[in-house]
Amino acid sequence: MNVARILFPVKVLGPGDRVGIWLCGCKRCCAGCSNPELWDVDPEKEISVQGLVALIDSIAKKTSIDGITITGGEPFEQAHDLTVLLNNIDSLTDDILVYTGFTLTELKEKNDNDINNALDQIGVLIDGPYEEERNDGSFLKGSSNQNIHILKSFLTKRYGEYMKNGANRIQNFSTRDGVISVGIHEKNFQADFESRITRKGVEIL
Ligand code: SF4
Repeated sequence: MNVARILFPVKVLGPGDRVGIWLCGCKRCCAGCSNPELWDVDPEKEISVQGLVALIDSIAKKTSIDGITITGGEPFEQAHDLTVLLNNIDSLTDDILVYTGFTLTELKEKNDNDINNALDQIGVLIDGPYEEERNDGSFLKGSSNQNIHILKSFLTKRYGEYMKNGANRIQNFSTRDGVISVGIHEKNFQADFESRITRKGVEIL
């Protein structure tokens, strides 16, 4: 499985302290995407699904986790591995939130076993491509065209309370690769960020 990063505790992409998993690879290339560094698959970031499960398990053994959020990149570009992963982590939490650039209808229309199996495991799906001009600060959504689908009815109350008066926040993680900014960013974040750091003399490779 091609995995860019795992972070914990992610507090801004779903309720509670969550394991956040960013998968590599996305062919959609939305203008203004806040994670363009994840568009390409990176052979150096290949890990077995069992290895990834062991990492998540090691976090869950040390502390309680409130949920898992999987984003990217496009998680459904690795639909088979995604399904195997979901089958192996369902005992750790029943709150699994997944972001995808596909719409739920598009995913269902593919009539693909791996995709259907993944959808059976997912608690909440936030779907649709990012549309920069429709980034209006909607809670949990990159742009207003996206939809929050509560696929497991037992999560309706939890997410209903979480989303009541919810506002997007940004959380910064210091890692050995530098600072990783997590959350739903404001419109033009990527362009503004690049222009600000270029003005300070930082080169983007
Ligand atoms: S679908 Fe998501 S990861 Fe892919 S380009 Fe669009 S915003 Fe970026």
